[in-house]
Amino acid sequence: MQKNNPSVAYFSMEFGLNSDFKIYAGGLGILAGDFLKAAKDNNLPVIGVGIKWKQGYVEQHIDSKQRIVDSFYNNEYDFLKDTGVKVNIKIRDRDVICKVWKVDCFDNSDLYLLDTDLPENADRWITGQLYGWFEEERIAQEMILGIGGVRALRALNKNIDIYHFNEGHAVFAGFELIREKKERGYNPYDAWNESRKQIVFTTHTPVFEGNEFHGLNVLEYMGAFNNLDRYLVREIGGEPFNMTAAGLKLSRKSNAVSSMHGRIANDMWKFVDRRSEIISITNGVHIPTWGDDELIGEYRNDKEIWSYHMNNKIKLINSIRLDTGVKLNKDKLLMGFARRAAPYKRADLVFTYENRIEPFLESGDVQIVISTKAHPLDFDGKEIIKHILSMQNKYPQSVVFLENYNMRKAMLLTRGVDVWLNNPRVTKEACGTSGMKAAINGVLNLSTLDGWWPEACWDEVTGWQIGGGFVSENKDIQDKHDADSLYEVLINKVINTYYNDPEKWREMMSASIRGILDRFSADRMIKEYYEKLYK
Ligand SMILES: *Cc1c(COP(=O)(O)O)cnc(C)c1O
Repeated sequence: MQKNNPSVAYFSMEFGLNSDFKIYAGGLGILAGDFLKAAKDNNLPVIGVGIKWKQGYVEQHIDSKQRIVDSFYNNEYDFLKDTGVKVNIKIRDRDVICKVWKVDCFDNSDLYLLDTDLPENADRWITGQLYGWFEEERIAQEMILGIGGVRALRALNKNIDIYHFNEGHAVFAGFELIREKKERGYNPYDAWNESRKQIVFTTHTPVFEGNEFHGLNVLEYMGAFNNLDRYLVREIGGEPFNMTAAGLKLSRKSNAVSSMHGRIANDMWKFVDRRSEIISITNGVHIPTWGDDELIGEYRNDKEIWSYHMNNKIKLINSIRLDTGVKLNKDKLLMGFARRAAPYKRADLVFTYENRIEPFLESGDVQIVISTKAHPLDFDGKEIIKHILSMQNKYPQSVVFLENYNMRKAMLLTRGVDVWLNNPRVTKEACGTSGMKAAINGVLNLSTLDGWWPEACWDEVTGWQIGGGFVSENKDIQDKHDADSLYEVLINKVINTYYNDPEKWREMMSASIRGILDRFSADRMIKEYYEKLYK
């Protein structure tokens, strides 16, 4: 890329760089991690700003009585370097000191992390748990990320052209940029306008209720106003204060994370006056992290990739055997589903009409492996896990549940299964990236037309669509329609092709890699951010 690329500070609550570095929860963090890696690969001046979570996200296990057990462990990392920098933030009228660490590992990131776990702090636990606890703690965490993050960049003497807020968690960084300018003599509106020129924003949440709101009184009590006047804060985020609307009004330009999400976001936020334009930049995945380089290399040489796929399938089957004792059959169709147990993702949709899938589970012609994790307070998500466990009990040779979904499991699964099942209610998934990881490894997507899939799906060529894009306000109608379509496509197309037309299957594997490898890579993504959002 050409010289003089703007330097970017990328603020994110989570970063998924490596499975054991537990400062991520799910897709948002994986995206941020892949983003930093792609920046490094392309020599682009991007600095990550995040939080060193003491316990990270929940670890979730199923005990011998099949109860879901949530645990948190303190983590220590020997690859973090002390920068010697500390910054101070006033929270609830108390000084909170943040230590700034630099991540010095894997040679793949330029990432700084803030940490409140210091003996001199009364509030050591602010950076204790990612998405843990209640509203005041969440606001305190966001003040650390935003206000603390900007102060850390100043103390580190970093020259930053663009402040990129990955999701609304970082908007208090905008308050800090405004406060700095006010202190230099700007009036509040000019300080806001000037700060907007430096800020870009990415929204990820197409479900309105999923966006974060806070009362102005609690923000004021916490100190989040950061010396801004109440009327200005209200003007930026409304009352109650809407973190996404604030991101849109603090930034010069925003983006959604797929074409479809762009249309939905523009519609959802049209009531916000003087917001920035929302463009679409579809997510991508970091190929060296998620792709099997041997298989991709053979694919590039026009070689047969089936045996490489079988190696990955056997690796997965062996790992499942070690974890669970279940011995899957490598010659039978293996379908995978792995993501957070958020209800809209419908992890148990395939079990909606049990009698229709039962014959295939009993014969073993369809094997399903599911890995997921529910937020500790997501009781609907936990019900879904219980339903899957009951199916596993009933069809123990064909249905496998893998507990405690993480990057390592994602890597094994997106290489080792034959088919990647993805069935969110259409319009609810902003993008989704696990299907991209599968596709580049020759694992065929079977998915509703949501998120990124309408951009990549060529039905019966790169994978299969289910549901025809049908949307209903009535969840029961939607779920019934999509379950019917899922059985229809699974039985008549997927199972039929797998067992009766292996040649077509292999052609589809190649078409999947050809159509998706470059277009949905993090390389393409970061270049697009530079061209469309940063310039
Ligand atoms: C890729 C990945 C995700 C995101 O996948 P989606 O398809 O967006 O749900 C979440 N968690 C882990 C561990 C991942 O590797």
